[in-house]
Amino acid sequence: MTRLWNDPADFADEMIDGFVAANERSVRRVPGGVIRSTVVPDGQVAVVIGGGSGHYPAFSGLVGQGLAHGAAMGNLFASPSTQQVHSVATAVDRGAGVFLSYGNYAGDVLNFDAAQARLRDEGIACETVVVTDDIFSAPPSERHRRRGIAGDLTVFRIAAAAAEAGYDLAGVTRIASLANERTRSFGVAFTGCTLPGARQPLFTVPAGRMAIGLGIHGEPGIEETDIPTADELADLLVEKLLAEIPESVDIAGARVVPILNGLGSLKYEEMFVVYRRISERLTDAGLVLVDPHVGEYCTSFDMAGTSLTLFWLDDELESLWETPVDTPAYRRGSVAAAARAEVAASSVVTAEAIERGDDDSVEVAALIRSALQVIVDVVDANVDELGRIDAIAGDGDHGIGMQRGSHAALAAGSAAADAGAGAQTVLAHAADAWADKAGGTSGLLWGVILNALAMQLGDAGRPTASAVAAGVTAAARGVHDYGKAEVGDKTLVDALVPFSTELAGAIDAGAAFTDAWTRAAAAATSAAAATSDLLPRLGRARTHGAHSLGTPDPGAVSLSLIVTAIGDLLTSTSTAPKASHHA
Ligand code: ADP
Ligand code: MG
Repeated sequence: MTRLWNDPADFADEMIDGFVAANERSVRRVPGGVIRSTVVPDGQVAVVIGGGSGHYPAFSGLVGQGLAHGAAMGNLFASPSTQQVHSVATAVDRGAGVFLSYGNYAGDVLNFDAAQARLRDEGIACETVVVTDDIFSAPPSERHRRRGIAGDLTVFRIAAAAAEAGYDLAGVTRIASLANERTRSFGVAFTGCTLPGARQPLFTVPAGRMAIGLGIHGEPGIEETDIPTADELADLLVEKLLAEIPESVDIAGARVVPILNGLGSLKYEEMFVVYRRISERLTDAGLVLVDPHVGEYCTSFDMAGTSLTLFWLDDELESLWETPVDTPAYRRGSVAAAARAEVAASSVVTAEAIERGDDDSVEVAALIRSALQVIVDVVDANVDELGRIDAIAGDGDHGIGMQRGSHAALAAGSAAADAGAGAQTVLAHAADAWADKAGGTSGLLWGVILNALAMQLGDAGRPTASAVAAGVTAAARGVHDYGKAEVGDKTLVDALVPFSTELAGAIDAGAAFTDAWTRAAAAATSAAAATSDLLPRLGRARTHGAHSLGTPDPGAVSLSLIVTAIGDLLTSTSTAPKASHHA
C-alpha cells in the first residue's frame, strides 16, 4: 500500500522536487529529468538513462559522479516522452556524443528512439544499448525481446565507467553491449504494487503464493507456486540463472557479481537470509563472487518481491566495475569530489511565438478546443476502467496516462487559442503537450495522431472534410511508422484503421462530415470491442498474452470512446467542416 500523496497527479513531479532538494550536492533538475550538478569534462561521452518513475533508485538515484550524467524521468510507470529524453540529453552533451540506456519496454523504446533520431538530426552523435536481462520474459532465441529489470545497474555502471575512462562513443557502446550480454536476472513477487491514489493494487498474488517472472511495472507473474522457504527460493533463483550462462563464459572459476535486488517492500533481513544460501550455491558451483550487492537497485513501488542478477565479468568489465561511484542512492569506493557546475543560461526554456490564424481558422480552433475538452471529459469518466483493462495484460497506467495527456493537451491548446492561434497551431501545441506529459506508448502515438491531423488544417481558412480525412489517414500511417503494429496485433491500430477507412470512404462517397464521422466512430467502436478475441503481439502486453483474451485492448477502447464523443460534439454543433465539394 502507498499511503502518502497530495494530488496523485502531482506525485511524480513533487517526488522529483523533493529528491533534488535532498541531493543538490549530486543532481539538479532540468526539463525532463535530472542531471549531475557537478562539472563534467568536455569531450566525455554523456550517459543518459531513464524510464518511468516508481523504480527508485532507478533512475534518478543513479545520477552522479562515476555513474549516469542524466536521467530522463517519466511519470509513474510511464516512459519519459521524446521531448524529455531529448531535453536531458542536450543538457548533458559535452561534445563527445550521447549514450542512451534503459530497460526494454515498448514505450521507452519508441520515445528514446525518437529522441535519438532528433539528436542525430541536430548533429549530436547518439547510440543506444537497451537492457534485456530478464530471462523469464522471452526465450533465449528472442533475447532482444526481454525486459530490463535490476540488470540496468550493471549496464549503466559499465557505460559510465567507460565514459569516465575516456572511451569514445563507439567504445562505450561496445562495452555496454557486452555488459548487457553478460547480465542475466530472474525474479519473483509476493504482492503487487499500488500506485498513489489507486484503490487497488495493480495485481494481486493470492496469500501464500508466489508469482514467478515478475516485471517491474507490476506486470503479473507468468507462473505461480506456493511460497517456498528462503533456501528453496535461493535454489530456484540460482538454478534458473545457472541454466543460462552467457555463451562466452566458462563456468569453472568464472568471476561474477551477484545482485540480490529488493522490489520495494521485502525486508533486507529476509534478503540476507536468502543471500546466505545463494552465496553458498554459487561458490559450490565453482564461481568466484566479486563485490556482491544485496539491496534495492530497481524497485516497483511497494511491490514485495526479489530478483537475482548475475553479471559475468571479464578483465575489461571487472576493471571498469572498480570505478568509484558517488550518487544519491549508490556509492562504491571513494570519489574525488568534482566542482559544482555553473547553471547554463541555455537551460532556461523560452516560450515560442504563436502563429496567429485568420478569422475562419480561429473559429475552427474554437471547435478544436471544445473537442479537446470533450476528450478530457470522456477520459476522466473512463479513467478507472482504462486502467483496469490495461492491468490485465499490461501495466495498468493507460487511464492515468490518457488523463495526463488529454489534460495537458487541453491546457496547451487553450493557451494557444487564447493567443489567437489558428486551427493547425492550436492542435499542434495540444499534440506536443500530450506526448510530453502522457508518457508511455499511447502518449507518443497520440502525439503522432494529433500532429498528423494538425498538418492538414492550416492556420487560414476552413479545412475541407477531405482534408480532415486525409489527416486521419496520415495519422494511421504515422502510428504504423512509429509503432510497427499491423491490424490484428491488438493495439489502438485495430480501432484507428477502420475509423480512418470508414471516414475517408464515406466522405469520398459524398456523405456530410458529421455523418461520416459518426459512422467511422461506430466502426471504431465495434472494432475495439472485437479486440477482446485477439492475442497481443507487441508492446508490454505481449509477455502476458494469454491473460488478455476476453479483454479488449485499452488503447483501442480509449480511441473509440474519444472519436465517439467527438461525433456527439459535432452532431450538436454547426461549425463542422463541410463536405469537400461545398468548400
Ligand atoms: P504503455 O504500454 O507504455 O504502458 P499505455 O498503457 O498508455 O502505454 O498504452 C497502451 C496502449 O498502447 C495499448 O493498449 C495499445 O493500444 C497501444 N500500443 C502499444 N504498443 C503499440 C504499438 N506498437 N502500436 C500501436 N499501438 C500500440
Ligand atoms: Mg500501460
